[in-house]
Amino acid sequence: TEFLDLLRLSSIRRKIIAFSLVATLLPAITMGWVSYRNNLKVLEEKIRQELTSLASHSSRELVLWLDGKKDDVRVFASSYEVSENLEKITASGDDSAGSRYVSRLRDYLKSVEHRFPDYAELAVLDLEGHVVATSSDRQSSHEMPEGWQSLAQEGKVILGDPYRDDVLGTGVLLVAEPVRVAGDRCLGVLAAKLKLAPIGETLHRQVPSGSARLYVITKNGTILSSDPPLDGPPLSAGLPRDTATDLFTGSVVPLEFAGLRGTEVVGALDPISGTPWGTVAEKSRDLEYAEISSLRNVTLVLVGTILLGVGLAAWLLGLTLVRPLGRLIAAAGKVTGGDMSVELPIYGRGEVGYLTVVFNRMVARLRKAHEELDATNKALVRKNEELQHLSITDDLTGLHNRKHMNETVDNEFRRAERHGHVLSILMIDIDRFKNFNDARGHQAGDEVIRGVARVLNDTIRTTDYAARYGGEEFLVLLPYIGPDEAVKTAERIREAVERASLGAAGDVPGLTISVGVASYPDCGNDAEAVIREADLALYKAKRAGRNQ
Ligand code: GH3
Ligand code: MG
Ligand code: MG
Repeated sequence: TEFLDLLRLSSIRRKIIAFSLVATLLPAITMGWVSYRNNLKVLEEKIRQELTSLASHSSRELVLWLDGKKDDVRVFASSYEVSENLEKITASGDDSAGSRYVSRLRDYLKSVEHRFPDYAELAVLDLEGHVVATSSDRQSSHEMPEGWQSLAQEGKVILGDPYRDDVLGTGVLLVAEPVRVAGDRCLGVLAAKLKLAPIGETLHRQVPSGSARLYVITKNGTILSSDPPLDGPPLSAGLPRDTATDLFTGSVVPLEFAGLRGTEVVGALDPISGTPWGTVAEKSRDLEYAEISSLRNVTLVLVGTILLGVGLAAWLLGLTLVRPLGRLIAAAGKVTGGDMSVELPIYGRGEVGYLTVVFNRMVARLRKAHEELDATNKALVRKNEELQHLSITDDLTGLHNRKHMNETVDNEFRRAERHGHVLSILMIDIDRFKNFNDARGHQAGDEVIRGVARVLNDTIRTTDYAARYGGEEFLVLLPYIGPDEAVKTAERIREAVERASLGAAGDVPGLTISVGVASYPDCGNDAEAVIREADLALYKAKRAGRNQ
């Protein structure tokens, strides 16, 4: 999914980086490619020119060289010694007189061979192809080309195919000239076996500082000679026939092929006129194109460096944009969550910086509004609590009021009923209070009512409940308390009020109270009944003399 996210370019930073990389890569690759193609073209043209000029130079030199050799042979063949002796030999048939001319002819051939080291053997052949005389002491073959007799008759030079002369142990090329006598009659030919090695020496003079290989090949790829020289027996090396054909066709120049040493080379051929052969100039492909590959490597390194730089810059740009944005997003999240304490640092004066300022201002306003609202809320809660308190509290005494008392009594009875436990109700009334009021005034009366309330509060337990029932009457509710215990509590309260001497002045004694007690479930099954019973009990106490 992370990879998919990357492809989707969901974040600003990714978009920036992707855009910068594409924007860099496209022109860089295009320019690199164009410059590479141009350089390649220029280099190819340079190589082509070098190779073709080298090959054609060499071919021209070889033509000259071969022409020189043909001239040599013509001179040998036209020698009086040759024609004279051959004519005599032909005329004498097989007798001993003929052998004298043969030996004279042989001497001549030997002396020529001796003076011209480029020839392996010189021989005179009759028109049947039989050797009449030879400079060699050993029997060797003379492979004349097909139809040589008619060429001889026409007085033309005969050029044989190169072959390996096993007897002489060298590669040779037959060059033959007709031997003619008076009346232009052709009696035979003088065949010279031209050594192939001097071709290599001619080639060697053409190669500058050995940077290229030059060699002469036949149509089927056999190599006549090469510079630098090849190992192995003569005429044993060669190019594949297809390669040779391609070179001769010359449709692709320079041609790339597997060279003689097995490595890739580039080469060009120039035909040697007057022969079926061609001169090939070849160079190592890797060496020639090294410049291009180094150029390509430099371009790659350059593009890579630029990409790295641009990527880094884009990443930093993304950071400057995305960092503050990320902070803004996080801060907005906090504010949404209710955290108003956010205050972002402001970097720079750009759009993002301005946005941050505005954001901070907005949050500050929100915070202020929030604080005001909070204060108002707290005040409201306080007021509510106050109201709540007031609504259940009796103004004068601070005891619970009648309304709260009703709810509490109902609840307590319901609980007692549900859990099956007892509870008791005390009804309290101040004795002869009307008189007191009349005598001392209402304010003093209120003070007494407050005093009774105080005594009540001080006497009952925290689990007990006291309320002002109305006027100078009070109700006390004692949960879990049965009749006996309730009576004891009532008595304790009565005593405490008496002891408090409320409203006592001079020899006038303090006010007292009467208490009626009733318990659930002994005196009734609900609050109403039990309260009525407590009320009745209170009356009883009043009638029985009060303060009891
Ligand atoms: P008894 O012993 O039979 O109870 O005699 P009493 O005079 O107390 O009779 P009663 O209970 O009927 O009298 C109630 C009197 O209490 C009437 C009224 O003057 C007085 N009183 C009721 N409420 C208040 C009050 O809030 N303040 C003051 N100062 N007097 C009150
Ligand atoms: Mg009363
Ligand atoms: Mg009373």
